[in-house]
Amino acid sequence: MERFIGIDLGTTYSAVSTIDEYGKPVIVRNREGEHLTPSVVYFPPGGNPVAGAEAKEMMLSGEDNVIMFFKREMGNPEFRFSVYGKEYSATDLSAILLRKLRDDAEAALGGSVTKSVITVPAYFNDLQRSETIKAAQIAGLEVMRIINEPTAAAINYGIARQGDGRLLVYDLGGGTFDVTVLEVSGGDITVLSTGGDHNLGGKDWDDCIITYITDQFEKEFGENPNDDPLTYNDLVFNAERLKKQLSVVRSASMTVRYAGHRQKYEITREKFEELTEHLMQGTRQKTKEVLSEAGLGWGDLAGVLLVGGSTKMPMVENWVRLMSGKEPLRGINVDEAVCLGAGIQAALEAERQNRRMGLPGAQGPRLSLPGGRPLNIKDVMSHSLGAIAVSKEGDRYVNSIIIRKNVTIPVTENRPFKLRTRPGGGNEMEVYLTQGEGTEVTQCTVVGRYVLRGIAHTGSGEAIIDIGYAYDENGVINVIGRQQGMAPPLLVEKLPLPDDMSWLYGQPKSNAGLSIMLVIDISYSMEGHPLSQAKKAALEFVKKTNLETSAISVIGFSDDVTEYCRPSHDRGVIEKAIKRLKEQGGTESPLEFCYQRLASSKAKPVIVVLTDGSWSGQQRAIATSDRCRDAGIDIIAIGFGSADKKFLRRISTISMMTDLDKLVDSFGTIAQELAQSGSASGIKFR
Ligand code: ADP
Ligand code: MG
Repeated sequence: MERFIGIDLGTTYSAVSTIDEYGKPVIVRNREGEHLTPSVVYFPPGGNPVAGAEAKEMMLSGEDNVIMFFKREMGNPEFRFSVYGKEYSATDLSAILLRKLRDDAEAALGGSVTKSVITVPAYFNDLQRSETIKAAQIAGLEVMRIINEPTAAAINYGIARQGDGRLLVYDLGGGTFDVTVLEVSGGDITVLSTGGDHNLGGKDWDDCIITYITDQFEKEFGENPNDDPLTYNDLVFNAERLKKQLSVVRSASMTVRYAGHRQKYEITREKFEELTEHLMQGTRQKTKEVLSEAGLGWGDLAGVLLVGGSTKMPMVENWVRLMSGKEPLRGINVDEAVCLGAGIQAALEAERQNRRMGLPGAQGPRLSLPGGRPLNIKDVMSHSLGAIAVSKEGDRYVNSIIIRKNVTIPVTENRPFKLRTRPGGGNEMEVYLTQGEGTEVTQCTVVGRYVLRGIAHTGSGEAIIDIGYAYDENGVINVIGRQQGMAPPLLVEKLPLPDDMSWLYGQPKSNAGLSIMLVIDISYSMEGHPLSQAKKAALEFVKKTNLETSAISVIGFSDDVTEYCRPSHDRGVIEKAIKRLKEQGGTESPLEFCYQRLASSKAKPVIVVLTDGSWSGQQRAIATSDRCRDAGIDIIAIGFGSADKKFLRRISTISMMTDLDKLVDSFGTIAQELAQSGSASGIKFR
């Protein structure tokens, strides 16, 4: 028979639960006979890794190759634990621990255990959640569902007490702090808001004791016991023990032995509370924030549920009593509440799976709910999801939030985005999925990249794309794209993130200013219709260029080079200059002149040159064009009539041959493409 378990994968301790023969959630003891398994992994030389109490003992005995607190590094690509030349990610280490939990459960339950519900801190992001699922899979466990730790505690509490109303769950564990406000009503549990600090926990309280005592020791003996790893391990162990004693008695002591000295230190509860006041302040601040995010005050709460081993400290209880004016609520056991909730959820998920597969759902023990009421969990987004967009001013990238933190999941939200399109196929939009609360790109993390294909070109050159995010109960995200005015949804493809994301902090390409030099052939062969078409085309180009960011200068070339206007942002000035263009003489290369003018340009320099014949001095022009390229000057060459196609291709970044009557269109397209890609090399002529 396949068995299911609920797992509290804690930072310092983990636990496993299931449903017993009476339909009640119970903790499954590990092979050491304990309810809690230390979240510690040890690598013995030449043997298989060991997790749990044995690993913790090895750590305390000063063994290297032991690691704990790796949950804090979940999803951190920089973190690696190296041992015997091998590297382990936090996911790998979690997998080793999960394997031990699973093996222990199989030993206790007497059957294979394949299905699980695992809890994570409410503020874990998608990467951290999916890494948790990955770790379970490596350990041979199917994850039926990931649920938030405070939600799990409330599930357990909701069943045990059947209290309706709004609850604040205050979870202070060994390494993490979680606050969640939720509403319990009959069988429904709805999360209203959530927050926390994944670097605040009981361990920090221990550290305060260690620092306080070793400072005294150093003053007395001139030696710091922290310098010796073995002594430090002793200190860690004894400080935690002292702390736990202070939860019960008003004063406790510990002895430090180091460098031939031995000293006993006494700490009162009062002193301990004074030493750790700043840590309490941290939890108070976070609690206040989460309450106000739910739009509630202390008076609106039916109760405060304390979860996590560190809430056994009287300072926590006293503060909660003071703020809420009520006795804090506790599960039957604060260490086990999360785990038992996970077990209940696992039973519900297993029943649901069986029902879906047409099975009677009677495999294994069934959950018995008081009054037979169904239990419904409604969770919320623990962080906002958005997309990278260009700011209104066009000068930088911003995070545009699509799904807000704290909305109830599952949820689907849309938001329209503008996209410049060009004629022909191949218009597509890149969506960079973000997680984070602020509008600044520095305040969010880019977690995914999607390409929406099949966008149609519109007459105005601007399409409106509705980007939709759908977020389901397990935290799986779907990206949907629709072009306004078009029926079928766009094709969406998920792509890996590029390694180099530094562009996020630069100027959006399409809006970076350009310094464009319009260089028009005014030799005699252009006289009449060709020149008047060229002027029309140049005017069209000006019309399609964003002169707020880009400047245009106008050059006529024949035997001589004439600057009709210097780089300008003034439409009137540029248009007047174009209209003044007048034919004269033969055709010499204008590139030398252009190079001199543009080589030191601050804005991206682009030469747009139009010609109808071949130039004298081609060799010199080719040499100059190479210097232009080295100086970052782009050259777009447009030829018609008896222009030399090969030569134009040689001197330009990009070139095209066109007809007189298509000139206006071509120039318009080039202006648009330039605006969109920010350089000539991004342009594709179709
Ligand atoms: P996690 O979920 O982060 O693994 P737990 O909820 O199991 O953590 O809590 C572990 C923390 O609780 C440890 O820091 C431990 O020292 C602390 N703790 C356990 N019992 C007590 C106690 N009686 N008084 C104070 N702290 C305690
Ligand atoms: Mg915990």
